[in-house]
Order: sequence, then structure tokens, then C-alpha cells
Amino acid sequence: MTEIDYLLTGATVVTANENWEVFSPGAVAVSGDSIVGVGPAEAIAVEYSSTMTVDCSGKALIPGLVNAHTHVPMTMLRGLADDLRLDVWLLGYMMPVEREFVTPEFCRTGTLLGCAEMIRSGITCFADMYYFEEEVARAVAETGMRALCSQTVLKFPTPDAPSFEDGLAAARNFIERWKGHALILPSVGPHAPYTSTRDMLQACAALAAEYDVPLHIHLAETEHEVEQSRSEHNMPVIPWVKKHDLFDAKVLAAHCVHVDSGEIRTLHKYRAGVAHNPTSNLKLASGIAPVAEMLQVGLDVGIGTDGPASNNDLDMFEETRLAALLAKGASGDPTVVPARQAFEMATIMGARALHLGDITGSLEPGKRADLALLDLNELHNTPTFRRDADAIYAQLVYVGKAADVSDVMVNG
Ligand SMILES: [Zn+2]
Repeated sequence: MTEIDYLLTGATVVTANENWEVFSPGAVAVSGDSIVGVGPAEAIAVEYSSTMTVDCSGKALIPGLVNAHTHVPMTMLRGLADDLRLDVWLLGYMMPVEREFVTPEFCRTGTLLGCAEMIRSGITCFADMYYFEEEVARAVAETGMRALCSQTVLKFPTPDAPSFEDGLAAARNFIERWKGHALILPSVGPHAPYTSTRDMLQACAALAAEYDVPLHIHLAETEHEVEQSRSEHNMPVIPWVKKHDLFDAKVLAAHCVHVDSGEIRTLHKYRAGVAHNPTSNLKLASGIAPVAEMLQVGLDVGIGTDGPASNNDLDMFEETRLAALLAKGASGDPTVVPARQAFEMATIMGARALHLGDITGSLEPGKRADLALLDLNELHNTPTFRRDADAIYAQLVYVGKAADVSDVMVNG
């Protein structure tokens, strides 16, 4: 019998492992920062004991959700400007306000607020892109969450860098300081092709490749962006960034709403992760990403809330449900993005999109103990059918609510 730190037992354990195993009643054994055992409750009880044994009966024990794209300090700008076109919203409202008001203190407060909201809704890991990312990373680490933190680089002056060169130097310093941290994966975030120059994209990709960290960028978010790319560069967005070596880096591409089949294959060839942000894309009327096709090709598509100024919350249950429903409505095929696949996008596939799939996203021995417990006894969860082997995923995706989350653990 091995003595461990935590034994979580009696829950319906949804592993999201390769074989999609569900144990009910199941148990998860945690030692230090990692999961050491997952299986039927009886079998785990024979192998492990702990003074911290928690009875989780009546609950679902799931991998912590992965929010694949956000700008968490924008919690401070929630509800500031709504119902606008992306360019009007971004260039007319957000960026001018940010230039005036965004400070390290603003980022710290916004991050703490956003992390509290995410923890309470079962999110254990997220991908961020903002200014003063050093402050963001420090606040995230303080809350105990896991994050891919990307220092924004723009061709215009930003709240934390008067020029692109300064922004790139800040990104390099940030990566050097945080690389190897237990919770924070630092990275560089050239905001988008239309806010970058060719040289900037190349320099950012080279920086990410040099330190072997991801590069986080918005790609092909609107039709206007693609038209602009065609008229300026004679080609759509993905070939243009490819031409300028973007895929030398491990890319996390937010949106990819307006990409054709060839571009999807390019993203797949270079193992880029995609962050699908259905609420943000609908609210800003950017369009509907061809998610069913991306999944069919084998792209790793995670689900993101985007920033709280364009959503306006950080609720991955809402977002995952919308991702499943939108793909069906857009394709006219109710069998696409079934509940299990939507759950996969919100967990292990999202972790892979962030290039963190070896560490988090599923409940498996060797992975970090990033998990959430959900109460299955609420009125909206009654009755519960188990006729279909995948019924638990339908329950989680079509019924689950952020308020059902009772407990969250990150990194043990
Ligand atoms: Zn974004």
C-alpha cells in the first residue's frame, strides 16, 4: 500500500484518456504535483492510502477545463463597448482605452478577477495574450492556475512598449525569466498579421523557436482580414504567414474563421493548435469557423472564451456547449462535434493546442493533477440516463453548468 497526498474516491471519473475510460465509482490518487493512479475505486483503494481521502460520491471528476484563448486582464473592460464590428470595437474603443489606462496594476487586478472566475467554473489552464504579461504571469502563479502567457507584440506603440523592438525585447526577457516555471509557460504573442510587419512575424517566430516555446497569434478572424491580405500580399492569411516562417514556431492560432481546405491542411502539417472562440466570433459577427472540417483533418482544436470584453464572461461550459451546437447548425449535420468530441476539445485537445498536452488535459498517471469536481445532484441533472456509453459527455456538455463545479485542483 502506497501512502499518497490525496485520494479522491467515489466519483464518476471521466479520464479523457486515449481509450475514453470512465470509472464509476472511480478514484484518482495524487502524489505531489501529479496523478499516480486512476481506476475503479476498489482497485485504487487496494493500492493507495491517504490521510486526505475525499469522498466524491455524487460527483463527476473531470480533467480541469482548458480555456484555449483569452486576454484575462480585459476582465477590467467587460461591458465597456458592445454590439460593434471587430475593427470599430478593437481600433476605435479597446486599443485607445488600453493605451490610456492599461498599467501593471490594471493587469494584475484584471488577472486576479479573471482567474477567480475561471477557477470557480472548473478551468485549470488557459492561454493568455496581453500587455505587461510579466504581471499577468505573476498573478496567475499566485492564484495557482496554469497558463500559457504570451507577451503581446504590435507594430504600433502599446501600453508597455513604445516600439516593436522594445516589445520584442520585453518578450525575450519575459521568456527568459519564466521558462521552466511549474505553472507558467511563457511565449510571444504577435497580435495578428494585420498588426505586424513581415519582419516582426519572422523575428517572433525565431524567438519562439530559439527558446522552444509557443507563439500565440490571432489568424484569419474576419473576412475583411483575408480580403486585405489578398489585396496587399496577393494571398490569404495562412500562406502569407507561412511564407514569413511563422510555422518555424509551435503556433497557437486563435480563430481561423476564414480558412479554406488548403489552409487547414497547412495548419495541420505544421502541427499548429487552433483556438475556436464561438461566442466571440458570433458576438462580433466574424463568422463561423469550419470546425468540423478541422477536426476531420486531425487539427488540435481547443475552445476559448476570448477576452471578457468580447464575450462577456469566462465560462467554458457555455462555450463548449456553443461549440457543439454551432458546428451542427453551421454544417446542417447534427452528428458533427458530438458531446464527447466537444468535451475533448475543452480538455485534452485544448491542452495539445496549447502545446501542453504532455502535462495536462486528461486524468492519467504521470500527468499533473489538474482536475475539477462537479455536483451531479442538481435538479437540472435529474434524471440521468446511462443507456448510451457516451451519456456522461452529453450530461457534461449539454447540461453542465459552471455553478455545478464544487472543487478544483491544479498541480496537485
Ligand atoms: Zn483574442
